Amino acid sequence: MYQRVRYDLNEELRKIKSGGLYKEERIILSDQKPGISVSYPVGSESREVLNFCSNNYLGLANHPRIIEAAHKSLDQYGFGMASVRFICGTQDIHKKLEKKISAFYEMEDTILYSSCFDANGGLFETILSSEDAIITDSLNHASIIDGIRLCKAKRYIYDHSDMKSLEKALKAAREGVDLFDHHPGLDKEPNPARNIMIATDGVFSMDGDIAKLDEIVELAKEYDAMVMVDDSHATGFLGEKGRGSIEYCDCLGEVDVITSTLGKAMGGASGGFITGKKEIVDMLRQRSRPYLFSNTVAPAIVGAALEAFDILTESNDLRKKLMENTSHFRKSISQLGFDITPGVHPIVPILFRKFEDDAQLSQVFSRDLYEEGIYVIGFFFPVVPKGQSRIRVQISAAHTTEQIDKAIAAFEKVGKKHKVIK
Ligand SMILES: *Cc1c(COP(=O)(O)O)cnc(C)c1O
Repeated sequence: MYQRVRYDLNEELRKIKSGGLYKEERIILSDQKPGISVSYPVGSESREVLNFCSNNYLGLANHPRIIEAAHKSLDQYGFGMASVRFICGTQDIHKKLEKKISAFYEMEDTILYSSCFDANGGLFETILSSEDAIITDSLNHASIIDGIRLCKAKRYIYDHSDMKSLEKALKAAREGVDLFDHHPGLDKEPNPARNIMIATDGVFSMDGDIAKLDEIVELAKEYDAMVMVDDSHATGFLGEKGRGSIEYCDCLGEVDVITSTLGKAMGGASGGFITGKKEIVDMLRQRSRPYLFSNTVAPAIVGAALEAFDILTESNDLRKKLMENTSHFRKSISQLGFDITPGVHPIVPILFRKFEDDAQLSQVFSRDLYEEGIYVIGFFFPVVPKGQSRIRVQISAAHTTEQIDKAIAAFEKVGKKHKVIK
C-alpha cells in the first residue's frame, strides 16, 4: 500500500519544490534573540546573523526575569501536570494567570489553552450553532478559519477591513439570505441568524495593518452582533498599556471575546488564552474540546507568563523602545526609497510592486540580505496576493539602534544591487 502513497507524496513534494514553495528550515544554534547563530543550509558551518523575522517583539524570549521565573516555577511546580485541566491539571498558578489576564484586559474571566491555535479551534463551535452566523474577515488567521470550519454556524466572509462589505454581510446574516448568489433560481426560504459573531484578527500578520475595531464595534452594535478579536500580533505591545489593538482603537470593554497567544511578545514559548464574558468562558470550560482533551499549559510557562504580565504593567520601557525602533526603521527605509505599507506596527512589509518578477526578486533579495548577515524572509504568491511579494521585517525592542542601522545599510546595499532603489 505505502508504495503508492510514497509515489503520490513525492509527486506532490516535487510540485511544491518546483513552484519554489518548499519550506527549508534554518537551524538556530543559540537562544532566540536579535543576534543569533544559524546553520543554513542544514549541516553547514554556523554563522552569526541579525534576526529580523521573529515575533519576539519585546525581547522577552530570553529576558533574565522571564528565565528566572520559569526556573522558579519549574523548581516549585515541577515539569508537567500529566493531565488536562479538569481532571488533575489545574494548579494555583494557572488560576492566578487567568485572573491576571482578566484584570489586564478588564474582562470578566479568562481560560488558558495550549496555544492560540487551540483557543480559536475551541471557541466558535462551543458558542455558536447552526442557527447562528459568523462574519469573518477574508484575511483572518488560519486558526480562525479552521475554528469556523468546525462550527455549524453559517459563514459570511467580508472583504479585508472593508466596512461596507462587513455591513453587507451583517445585513445578509440578519435577513438570513446568502451573501453570494450560490444557487440562482433556487427559491430558498430566508433564515435569519439567531446570534451573530464578527471575527477578526486585531493585527494582520502579512501587512501589520490594524483592524478598524472602532468601526467594527459600531456596526456590531447596530446589527446586534458580538465581536471576537484575535490579538496575537498585538498583545503586550500595541496600545498605551500593551492591551493590543483593542486599546489602540479605544475599544476596551466593547469587545466580547479576545483570543491571543503567549507565544509571541509574551515570552514566546507557547500557550494561548481566551478572555471575555463570564458565561462564554464558563461554557468553554464545559465544552471546548482543545481545553477538555489537550494537556495543561506547563507550569514553567505559566510562571514565566505571570512575570511577563508583571513586566508589562510595571513599566512602558520595552514598549517605548519597540516603537522607537520601529519608527526609526520605517522612516529610514522609506527615505531610501523602498515601497513599504505605511503604519505603526513593528511588522514592516517591504514590497516590490513596480517589478515584473516580484516573487523571484523577494527570494533573491532575502538571500542576499542573509549573506549580509540580516535574517529576513521573502513571501510571495500564494502566501500573499500576486504582485505583492515582499520581505517582511519584524522589529523588536531587543534590537539595538546599531543593529537596526546595520539592517538599513544592508537593505540599501542589496536594494541598489537589484535596482530596487537608486
Ligand atoms: C500566531 C498566531 C496564532 C497562533 O498562535 P499559537 O499560540 O502559536 O498557536 C493565532 N492567531 C494569530 C492571529 C496569530 O498571529
